[in-house]
Amino acid sequence: MNQVPPYPRDDADALDSIAFPASGTVRRGNLRFSRPELADWSWPYTVVRGTEDGPHVALISGVHPAEYPAIESNIRFTRNLDPSRLRGTVVSLPLVDVPAFLPRSPFVCPIDGKNPNRYFPGDPNGSFTEIMDDAIFRTVIAPADTLIDLHGGDMVEALIPFSIYSVSGNEEVDSRSIALGRGFGLPYLVASKPQPGGIGGTTAHAAAAAGIPCIIAEAGSSGLLTEPETQMMVDGIENALRSLGMLDGEVASHDPVEIEQFSWLRSPAEGMWYPSIAVGEQVREGQNIGRIGNLYGDTLAEISAPHDGVVLFITSAPAMPHDGLMIAVGGT
Ligand SMILES: [Zn+2]
Repeated sequence: MNQVPPYPRDDADALDSIAFPASGTVRRGNLRFSRPELADWSWPYTVVRGTEDGPHVALISGVHPAEYPAIESNIRFTRNLDPSRLRGTVVSLPLVDVPAFLPRSPFVCPIDGKNPNRYFPGDPNGSFTEIMDDAIFRTVIAPADTLIDLHGGDMVEALIPFSIYSVSGNEEVDSRSIALGRGFGLPYLVASKPQPGGIGGTTAHAAAAAGIPCIIAEAGSSGLLTEPETQMMVDGIENALRSLGMLDGEVASHDPVEIEQFSWLRSPAEGMWYPSIAVGEQVREGQNIGRIGNLYGDTLAEISAPHDGVVLFITSAPAMPHDGLMIAVGGT
């Protein structure tokens, strides 16, 4: 496993853009940016260029760098990918939010306290996270034909595996994103639709708006590097690339449950969060799914399910701010 794979490789650092190596070879190095705000940082990247032409896939993870099965599956898949059996090119960036990795910062970049997955495609005139998003978007995402962005439950989240795609309204892009999600094969496939108060600025929203089919694939929980979820993601990437015609082999057929309603419940009070259900459970509209208590043990709020559906993730940490995210319910 730790043996260096025997694929022909050259190593080269990159500045502001990633050049492909010769056909049938691998290149890896550090990506840097000429923006002075980003000068202290570098991003390890690998390009695997197949012997035959084909799609260009950007494979990223670590937008939230405590989502470890995502990062590990990217490292493992990319390292073992044989360019002689690949059609097209995979550009892998296993760790997007580099400054948040060693501090083990959940969700946000510690430099400015912003969640990178709310600011894509970024803003070169913004603060650190927006500048970083802009640089990553221009360099890694915009040049690609397809984006696979690997996530999972962060340090304080329990989660069952699912994929998300953005409903952009561009039917061609959306149908390719759906096909990619089916190819990846996690058990649930969530349609993320623009809605008032809904989240924006995700990789999937920005990529789809730019005409690039994308899924965000989520597996793993609570800051743990778990093998079943890591392998599930490795298999998902492999199958997704087969579905794109980039790898030989039969596309394993999956039939994810398609989720049309994706409801994020936020806490009406700060205090202790006591969920009474587990991830993966089916809930009914109005069913009690937990409560918020204060530090004396009084109940401040009872929480009920907004509609029938499956519990896709739960904030597993009891500490709950006012308006903090408690739970996500997916309805078909
Ligand atoms: Zn994430």
